Amino acid sequence: MKLILLGPPGAGKGTQAKLLEAEFGVPQISTGDLLRQEVAAGSEIGKAAGAVMAAGGLVPDELLLRLLARRLGGAALRLGFILDGFPRNLSQARALDSWLDARDAQIDAVLELKVDDAALVDRIAGRFACAACGAGYHETLKPPRAAGHCDRCAGTRFTRREDDRAEVVAARLAAYAAQTAPLLPYYRAQARLFSVDGMAPPDQVFQDIRMLLDAIRRPRLERADSKARLEV
Ligand code: AMP
Repeated sequence: MKLILLGPPGAGKGTQAKLLEAEFGVPQISTGDLLRQEVAAGSEIGKAAGAVMAAGGLVPDELLLRLLARRLGGAALRLGFILDGFPRNLSQARALDSWLDARDAQIDAVLELKVDDAALVDRIAGRFACAACGAGYHETLKPPRAAGHCDRCAGTRFTRREDDRAEVVAARLAAYAAQTAPLLPYYRAQARLFSVDGMAPPDQVFQDIRMLLDAIRRPRLERADSKARLEV
């Protein structure tokens, strides 16, 4: 299964990608996480990307493609992947398509998470994560069960993303509208785009995505089955 999760910052792509990864065993590839690791490691890519990320802009395509080339090798093609945060503009989408074409592969579905702009700002402003294990929380929507203690590892230190500050969020939303939203008609024209109501609670969104994936995969399985019967 090869999926792309599309939606503005705060739409819940990361949350859904992790749920999908746990359910189907298909790895999440978050370009934001990969870039943050490069920044933390002080690598060449990290040094080039850090300032752009802090300002809420898009990191140059060439760096993204270098980063992804390391992850989309043979195993990823075999196991599938859930792309979270890539592609983010048309040239990245075209590069991905030609990379897959050259390997006789294709994206199965592009899932758009639709969320109101006002909700995005609230969602991003309230989010934080455990510094030890990375579990994600939100001040009002998903606080830890015991205040100040991570549900998963009992850690007591929490962090916020640098680029979740209000002024940077505005730039990230603008980058989405100008550069990423044009991917919606691009994938619609390929008949790969499916939209989900991202305003629903995360568990409900996940159920909706599962039903969608079932509906997408069923005709394919039936086709494969009738082909097998013909060949008998
Ligand atoms: P995210 O965690 O997906 O919100 O990404 C955090 C930041 O990483 C973004 O605001 C961009 O600066 C950068 N980034 C992540 N993915 C991409 C991409 N596909 N193209 C360009 N920049 C990206």
